[in-house]
Amino acid sequence: MDINPKSILFRDLREGVANVMSRYGPEYWRKLDEVSAYPEAFVKEMMEYGYLAALIPEAYGGSGLGIAEASVILEEINHLGGNAGVCHAQMYIMGTLLRHGSEDQKRRYLPDIAKGKLRFQAFGVTEPDAGSDTLSIKTFARKAGKGYIVNGQKIWTSRVAHSDLMLLIARTTPKEEARKRTEGLSAFLVDLRASIGKGVTIQPIPTMMNHHSAQVFLEDLVIPEENRLGEEGRGFSYLLDGLNAERILIAAECIGDAYWFLEKASAYASSREVFGRPIGQNQGVQFPIARGYASTRAADLMRYEAAALFDKGEPCGPEANMAKLLAADASFEAGNVAIQTFGGFGFAKEYDIERKFRETRLYQVAPISTNLILAYLGQHVLGMPRSY
Ligand SMILES: Cc1cc2nc3c(=O)[nH]c(=O)nc-3n(C[C@H](O)[C@H](O)[C@H](O)COP(=O)(O)OP(=O)(O)OC[C@H]3O[C@@H](n4cnc5c(N)ncnc54)[C@H](O)[C@@H]3O)c2cc1C
Repeated sequence: MDINPKSILFRDLREGVANVMSRYGPEYWRKLDEVSAYPEAFVKEMMEYGYLAALIPEAYGGSGLGIAEASVILEEINHLGGNAGVCHAQMYIMGTLLRHGSEDQKRRYLPDIAKGKLRFQAFGVTEPDAGSDTLSIKTFARKAGKGYIVNGQKIWTSRVAHSDLMLLIARTTPKEEARKRTEGLSAFLVDLRASIGKGVTIQPIPTMMNHHSAQVFLEDLVIPEENRLGEEGRGFSYLLDGLNAERILIAAECIGDAYWFLEKASAYASSREVFGRPIGQNQGVQFPIARGYASTRAADLMRYEAAALFDKGEPCGPEANMAKLLAADASFEAGNVAIQTFGGFGFAKEYDIERKFRETRLYQVAPISTNLILAYLGQHVLGMPRSY
């Protein structure tokens, strides 16, 4: 029984991802999780099939699809027991290169990314003293001749050890000298192949889930001027431009997780017998699963609404943020209910529930925390006073 009525949308795409996922079953993800290893083979195959180049226009060798299709690709990875967090950034950071890169930069990088030869998976914004408050970053790119010399530190830069390129946000004007609060940051493409050991040092951060995050130390890193994206000082607005895509894509991953949890929980509740009858016959077990389902369906509607607006080129900030908020809540709720339904087995690694629960928990905090989304809605949509 298919509990997701929207699975009739983009069926070919879903079947294609399912075909790849058939070679990367739960054991694959479980084993990687145990040893904190990166799913090299899976990501390579996804790139070779062109799935991670969904948003690259056909003129640069990609498939030129919309955000709705891209989101379905990530949703299906999570729905089939995997973790799209290992490769999702390529889809949403690409937008900065597409929208603000020069023609020369696009020709230099996009065709090879589309062919699967080049990985663009890392995004360096957060710093130890600046997470939610991006404008307080201190990493500084000082103009020197025909380039920049960068010093500073990033934290939580995910997949940086598994990427060829990193999108780096750094200050080019000190905060106190910027004309406007939101000016003075710039966006750069860092070629990690040439920079690791030459200005870039990576130190992995072990975490509760297999996410390949790291601290990145930048010490006299030389970035040629031709690797700056767009205008100097406008990096923050470029960052904001990409956020709606990021929110919609992560929402879809959470929806995929939620359906995975709900399928597992309802099947187990129907088959596990305690006191001589299926546990799902007890409403105390059944209703929380049904409620999780209702939350997931509602969040999914918001995700498709946000994606439709995005693909029409219309403003979708509130919808994209609400989709992320509702979907992250729904997957957390569904994961929690799945653990409860499985009883002790919910904690056993072989069922994968605890792994997926750890993975989906992240989306309450990153890439933007639930509180910051609520603040955005409260302040920018409902017009209430600013808290920051
Ligand atoms: C596994 C993982 C992967 C990540 N990957 C990346 C990556 O690839 N690239 C990257 O740049 N960053 C990445 N991040 C960083 C992530 O974006 C930040 O963790 C997130 O933005 C929150 O910042 P912070 O951790 O500094 O929390 P803080 O900003 O210190 O906030 C701490 C808590 O206080 C709350 N809070 C703060 N201010 C307010 C307020 N005004 N009102 C209400 N609540 C508030 C927040 O919601 C949060 O819950 C990752 C993080 C994790 C954990």
